[in-house]
Amino acid sequence: MNSNDIEQIVKQVLANMQGVAPSTAASSSSAGKPIPKTSRVAMLTALEHYDIKEYPIPEVGDDDILVKVEGCGICGTDAHEFKKDPFGLIPVVLGHEGTGEIVKMGKNVKKDSAGKDLKIGDKVVTCMIFSDDPDIEMFDLNKKNVGAADVYGLLPDDDKHLNGWFADYLLVRGGSTIFNVNDLDLDMRILIEPCAVLVHAVERAKTTGILRFNSRVVVQGCGPIGLICIAVLRTMGVENIVAVDGEDKRLAFAKEMGAGQTVNFKNYQGIEALAGAVSDAFGGHLADFAFQCTGSPAAHSNIYKFIRNGGGLCELGFFINGGDATINPHFDMCSKEITLVGSWVYTLRDYATTFDFIKRAKGIGLPLEKLITHKFPLSQINEAHKTNLKMEGLKIAIIADDLL
Ligand SMILES: [Zn+2]
Repeated sequence: MNSNDIEQIVKQVLANMQGVAPSTAASSSSAGKPIPKTSRVAMLTALEHYDIKEYPIPEVGDDDILVKVEGCGICGTDAHEFKKDPFGLIPVVLGHEGTGEIVKMGKNVKKDSAGKDLKIGDKVVTCMIFSDDPDIEMFDLNKKNVGAADVYGLLPDDDKHLNGWFADYLLVRGGSTIFNVNDLDLDMRILIEPCAVLVHAVERAKTTGILRFNSRVVVQGCGPIGLICIAVLRTMGVENIVAVDGEDKRLAFAKEMGAGQTVNFKNYQGIEALAGAVSDAFGGHLADFAFQCTGSPAAHSNIYKFIRNGGGLCELGFFINGGDATINPHFDMCSKEITLVGSWVYTLRDYATTFDFIKRAKGIGLPLEKLITHKFPLSQINEAHKTNLKMEGLKIAIIADDLL
């Protein structure tokens, strides 16, 4: 029993002594705290500037769920929004890698998108919002990825305002997909969204038929995406992984996540030497398959040189337009007969697979929790984003004040 449980029991006993009727529990969180009248949100109101604003918590409709936010990671997409607003969303409440606890539910809400029961006190994550198809659930959804739907944290501001996870509360509206993830701790729940990106990418890679148990796989880019890519590959039994990056610290972490060998591209002059280093790392072979996990056009151009004839490539680094990359179609693609797949975000089904991936990764001792290198309170969200832009850490998370 941890101190939270004890605190809860003490509060329950005190509440009973004061004659508080059990029915009031419906409007309280499971921690026994009443729901406040207002919620803070971090509103990006200008480039590189969030304002902390406070809004009334709106009515919870019959199909809605009010979630007390416990934490939310800062994504590369948030970093782009913070710097340049490429989606033209300002003013906007960002934060889509969030998780929290249900504190209030409409009377029509009974189950999550996987068919699990939902109740007050459950820990949840949201996935996509299918306003046009509200009955959708994960078993329908091999076909749709997030490109066809909305996501909390990337919605335009409206009169409810509680539209993103960088806030104290999120109002999950009918037609949203939501999952009960009581069996994962806070840090793991914050990592679900980025992990789903990699589960999806590996699923895309598998469609080539080239990725197998004993494949030689190169993962280029060891930010959170590349590191999680290595972990997903390890959990599916791929053991012969070479990580490529320009930072020794990240490469050391790549080894912890399951890479067998690493190559620091800064140690090699020219692409021939670099491709030679990758081949040496595989004992004199080029890779059967490559994952390109950076947003650098030059990195895209280079990666073909690491792949053997008849090999495959999954490009997943360009979540936004990073510019054009130059390749030589004859040498890089045709004569090598490369099979290329692109990957972008995930489907709802990948989300559910991700919960299993996280448990499996922990089961084989991969230190996923070390991906979260910095934690900030909501009030310091500007500092958190600036730290993120400095690229000093890996995953930076905003954590609720009472959980920091
Ligand atoms: Zn994201």
